[in-house]
Amino acid sequence: MAPRADLAFFEALAQPGVRGLRAYDPGLDLVALRRTAGLPGLVELGSNENSLGPGPAARAAFVAAAGSLHRYPDPNGGDLKRALAAHHRVATESLLLGNGSHELLMMLAQVFAGPGQGVVMSRHGFAVYALAAQAAGAELQWAESLPGDHAMPRGHDLDALAAAVTPHTRLVYLANPNNPTGTWFETARLAEFLQRLRDDVLVVVDEAYLEYVTDPALVSALTLLPAHRNLVVTRTFSKAHGLAGLRVGYLVADPGLVAVMERVRESFNVNGPGLAACEAALGDAAHLASVRSGNAREREALADALRARELIVAPSQTNFLLVDFGCDAAPIESRLVAGGVVPRPMAGYGLATCLRLTVGTREENRRLLQVLDEALA
Ligand SMILES: *Cc1c(COP(=O)(O)O)cnc(C)c1O
Repeated sequence: MAPRADLAFFEALAQPGVRGLRAYDPGLDLVALRRTAGLPGLVELGSNENSLGPGPAARAAFVAAAGSLHRYPDPNGGDLKRALAAHHRVATESLLLGNGSHELLMMLAQVFAGPGQGVVMSRHGFAVYALAAQAAGAELQWAESLPGDHAMPRGHDLDALAAAVTPHTRLVYLANPNNPTGTWFETARLAEFLQRLRDDVLVVVDEAYLEYVTDPALVSALTLLPAHRNLVVTRTFSKAHGLAGLRVGYLVADPGLVAVMERVRESFNVNGPGLAACEAALGDAAHLASVRSGNAREREALADALRARELIVAPSQTNFLLVDFGCDAAPIESRLVAGGVVPRPMAGYGLATCLRLTVGTREENRRLLQVLDEALA
């Protein structure tokens, strides 16, 4: 029997920002799909995870941390912060750890935006930004993306983003490289963009995929932090570090901004095994280098293979590709899933002819192409 659910009653009790919200759509029910998939198992290319997972050092640290599961974790995440501070050459006071960068993206809006204030984002920006702004009761201020071939956007239009800023704007969210397009802009363009904004508009640059970048004209926005106190850079251990399951992200910003955000952080928001494994992952440069080079190689090979099938593939500096099929992609998605390959549908982003495909291992990509050929036949 379905439980009694009086949605309208509780929605009316919710604060106005939450009333109009729809929960983040995580894609297909993978738990159910895994249960029914036969051998050799699913090829999961829907969430931009790193198929290789973490390296041996992070795995060992995680296992060792299992000895302290009855203890609360370090509420300050001191060891991980010191490792991050040394790694990025920033002060530990500039760092805030989150239960994934998702938590930090939500907290930024909670702290810095509210009713009567605006949050700027790009039409094809990450869906979490809109959720964060709306949950805080702020007004969303959209900027169109650069148009590209067919339905395919070419990425953020920094002029449009600057033009969308009004006197009541408090936050701008943008990812570089961007999800779901995979596109990017050069660091010099970000520097120009920052010059154009008032310094009481916080610019959040989400660098979830930065470790995958191979274009030398894109370096981390961390290099711009000393010149801009309104710049906030978010990073994560979920993608290139292969630790999505542990939920650890961080932001780097002015220590004043960090101190204000600390007031609303849940004291034990990052778990002990997560702290330990991420610290070890940060020290394992060899694993990250092999993840990076493997991804760069497979990304090009997969893009070439898809283009050889006359599909439009957005240029990408990430571990995924946005692919335009030139027709409704839903039937193709269904056939891929039936064949054991999980893509991410893009209709929620207004890109109904596109699918987003994580770059997998060579073997995963081979299976993808095989099932795709059957789906397109
Ligand atoms: C995957 C992703 C994140 C990372 O989220 P976590 O909560 O750190 O796992 C953040 N931003 C973008 C754009 C992403 O694609």
